[in-house]
Formats: sequence, C-alpha cells, structure tokens
Amino acid sequence: MSKYDAIIVGSGSNGISAAIRLQQKGLKTAIFEQASSPGGATRTQELTLPGFKHDVGSSILPLGLASPFLRNLPLKDHGLEWVYPEIAYSHPFIDGTAYACFKDLYQTAAQLGEDEKNYLKIFKPLMEDWEKLDPDLLAPLGIPQHPVPYLKFGLKALPSAHWLANRYFEDERSKMFFYGSAAHSTIPLTNLASASFGLVLTATAHRYNWPFPKGGAGNFTGAMLNYYRSLGGELHLNHQVNDLRDLPNALAYLFDLTPRQLLKINGLNFNSLYRKRMENYKYGAGVFKMDWALSEPVPFTSEKCRRSGTVHIGFSQAELERSEDLVHKGSVSDRPYVLMAQHSPFDATRAPEGKHTAWAYIHVPNGDPRDHTTILEDQIERAAPGFKDTILARSTKTTHQLEEFDPNLVGGDINGGLQDITQFFTRPIIKLSPYSTPDPRIYICSSSTPPGGGVHGMSGFHAAEKVLKDHFKDLV
Ligand SMILES: Cc1cc2nc3c(=O)[nH]c(=O)nc-3n(C[C@H](O)[C@H](O)[C@H](O)COP(=O)(O)OP(=O)(O)OC[C@H]3O[C@@H](n4cnc5c(N)ncnc54)[C@H](O)[C@@H]3O)c2cc1C
Repeated sequence: MSKYDAIIVGSGSNGISAAIRLQQKGLKTAIFEQASSPGGATRTQELTLPGFKHDVGSSILPLGLASPFLRNLPLKDHGLEWVYPEIAYSHPFIDGTAYACFKDLYQTAAQLGEDEKNYLKIFKPLMEDWEKLDPDLLAPLGIPQHPVPYLKFGLKALPSAHWLANRYFEDERSKMFFYGSAAHSTIPLTNLASASFGLVLTATAHRYNWPFPKGGAGNFTGAMLNYYRSLGGELHLNHQVNDLRDLPNALAYLFDLTPRQLLKINGLNFNSLYRKRMENYKYGAGVFKMDWALSEPVPFTSEKCRRSGTVHIGFSQAELERSEDLVHKGSVSDRPYVLMAQHSPFDATRAPEGKHTAWAYIHVPNGDPRDHTTILEDQIERAAPGFKDTILARSTKTTHQLEEFDPNLVGGDINGGLQDITQFFTRPIIKLSPYSTPDPRIYICSSSTPPGGGVHGMSGFHAAEKVLKDHFKDLV
C-alpha cells in the first residue's frame, strides 16, 4: 500500500490545479516544491520597500476567471477577492490621448472613429460565440464542441496580428490598440497565430474586465492552497526533486516542469526517441521585469490610462512591430513594447497609505543577461512625463534572476516554451495525449502542455484527467 495515490512536483498554478482535481476525486496526493514559498510564477513579495507588495511574476489574472476549471472552485470561500479596475487596459498615444478597452464592447468601439464598425466586425461575433468557444480555447487540440464558431474564430486567429490589423482597421491607432494585446504572444506580430492572443485577451477584457487578486497574485495561490488543504492535500516546501526515487511511492507523478527540467530528473523510464524529441522543444523570448515603489500614482498624461489596470506602451505600428521582431533576431529595441500594470489605484492594500506600486516588463532575447532599466523607464516616461520623479525604489529582474526565482522560467521565458504555430497545440511534442510520457507513471502538467502560458490551471486540470483515465478509471 502506498501512502499516496499521486505526487505532484511543483506548486505553480498548474501543479496546484492538478493536485486539487485529483484530491477532489478522493485521491490522496501531495505536492513537493523546491522553493521556500509556493506558487511558482504566481507569488507576491515586498521587492522594494516594506509595505509595498509586488507580483514577482503573473499579476493580471483574467484567465483565472475565464478558466472552466478554476472559475468553478470555491476560491472566494478560501480568501480570494477579485479587484476589477475601472478600465481593463488602455493604449496611450504620443499626443497624450489613449484608447481604452472598457468592459463594454460598444463604448470601446465608439472611441475608434471610422474603425468603430470594424472593431465590432471583429469582436461582436466573438463575444456572441464566447460561451461556446471558451471550453475549446483552453483545451488540448481535439474535435471542438462547437465546430462552427471555432472555425470562424480560427479564420481570424491563425493569421498574424499584422494581417488582421491591416485587413480590418483603417487608422493606425486602432492597429496599435490591437497590437497591445496581440503582443502578449511574445512572438513577432508578423508571425502566424499572433492574432489569436489579441482576439482572446481582448475578448476576456470585454467579458471579465481583466481583474487581479486583492493584496497580490500570491493570494490567488494562497486561496488555491487553502482549498487544496481543506480537501486533505499536503504541501512540502524546500524539497527539490532531482530523482524519482527520492519521492514516496505513488501510482502517478505529475511534473509541473518544462521539458528541459524534466529530462534532468533521474529514474524516469523514457526511451531515447522521446528524450530526443523533448530535447528539441523550443523556448521563447525572455522578459526583463521591473517593479516600482512610487510616491504617487503613475502620472499618465491620459486620464484613461490613469483609470486602467493594464497599460500597453508603444507609439507607432512600426515601433511595436520592430520591438517584437528585434527580440527574435537577438536584440532589444530602444523603444520597446512595454506591458505595464498598476494595482494600487484600485487596491489600497498594495502600498502604504498614499503610496503606490507599478509592475512592467519588456520582451528580450531568451537568456539575455542585460539590465534594461533605462529604455524601459524612458518608454514609460513618454506616456507619463514625471514618472521617474515619483520613484521611491525599484526592483529589476533579468532573465537569469527570473530563472533563479523560478526554474521553470527558462532563459526568462514566462510561457514554459515558445508559443508559435509550431508549438501552439502540440506542446511539448506531437502526441495523442501531450500530458502522458512513455513512462506510464510520469505526466507533465506545466504550461509546456496545452493550453500553454497563463494562470488558468487548465494544463494541470487536463493532466489530472489523463491520470484519472489511466490509473483510476472508476473515478472518471
Ligand atoms: C514576469 C511574469 C509575468 C507574467 N504575467 C502574467 C499575467 O499577468 N497573467 C497570467 O495569466 N500569466 C502571467 N505570467 C505567466 C504565468 O505566471 C505562467 O504561465 C504560470 O505561472 C505557469 O504555471 P505553472 O504551474 O505551469 O508553472 P510555474 O508557476 O512556473 O510553477 C512551477 C513550479 O515548479 C517548481 N519546481 C521547478 N523545478 C522543481 C523541482 N525540481 N522540484 C520541485 N519543484 C520544482 C518551481 O519552483 C515552481 O514553483 C507571467 C509570468 C511571469 C514570469
């Protein structure tokens, strides 16, 4: 008799989701985590000054609400409180004006002048079909539950953001506005499927308004763990797993790791072909991340930006395209695309009274060792003159420091591997079930499996379902 039915290695949002799913089904599980605090890339720390709470990794969590698995968990009863910013996101322009992505589709479209009808042409059908699409969008590749809406979505999602923006919009501002969310893809905006990120993320803004957890993303992890423990689950911290034989006996082991890390674990029964294919797994661009303690809110010129939880910065279509293109050619633009978030205007618990925080990153080549503070802050300063004068303290994280913080952030890649057309659906390798491996005890549940990066827990959920099917048929 083993003490455990299943062991989960890694306590990121996917590891905890897998553990919750198995524990919900009555299995006895435990999570083993190498770090001294749980959550992987979903943790909050006082990175700058006492009392200033910063999300070291993930921060804005609409996918936590959109996730068909997570949205049905009783996380509110276990301490999660969502904060909804007044505006989901905005995009400032060089003249001080901005477009805002309001929850209301029509209010958003109305800002776009001649492109109002074009915005509605893209997003109205998507919002009408959303309920039918969302189970398939966060699932492994298979026959969609609603093929017609899925096909309609695919026709717009598979091309590049560049193609979609130029096909639908007349005005450069509308194109930049779309690029802001499409660039979350971390691939060049001219690459196939980059449009899909702009479509899905904008749809989640209209549906869920891009919320974040009160007090920090770490509270999302905390609520998941409180619920997991209430089901009888166990968490073991400071336990780096290097060898399967160091773990207690179990029927299944689920690894919340990326392929390169998994291949380093001793005692796994993988054949050489599988190893070779996993060795060919591609990692994506990294990020250079900053957090600030501020004396006042970020002084954006545009009032819309001051009211937004997230702000996308980049001042022309060409500038945005160049920024993302250069990263993939191994360098960094001096006018990079900046993804910025501000929580304290909407969540007073993030900073001491009257003070504020800000969070931002730029994309950089994988493994880039450099500090990019100057170009990042200069770019923010263009949208928010006087920003630098409000800085009380700053924290920087290069790609190497991110990987030290969480070994899954290989070379600073925040998505557990490149998310381009070649690895979008077929991560980590082309295989009927991407979650299982040639060793019948071993499963992968990290964001290196579909549906990829983001705090949605769906990789963990699908891996757990596969474990149930393979080893605990009676419980399915
Ligand atoms: C800077 C940054 C910003 C981001 N912003 C957002 C955002 O705003 N919204 C969003 O949805 N997503 C965002 N993401 C992406 C999101 O955080 C990830 O997609 C998500 O955390 C993936 O979860 P995971 O469980 O697959 O892996 P992780 O969260 O990386 O967890 C993996 C865990 O495994 C542990 N581990 C690794 N090796 C071992 C070992 N040998 N033994 C034991 N434990 C081990 C690690 O310590 C870690 O705790 C961001 C990420 C970063 C870094």
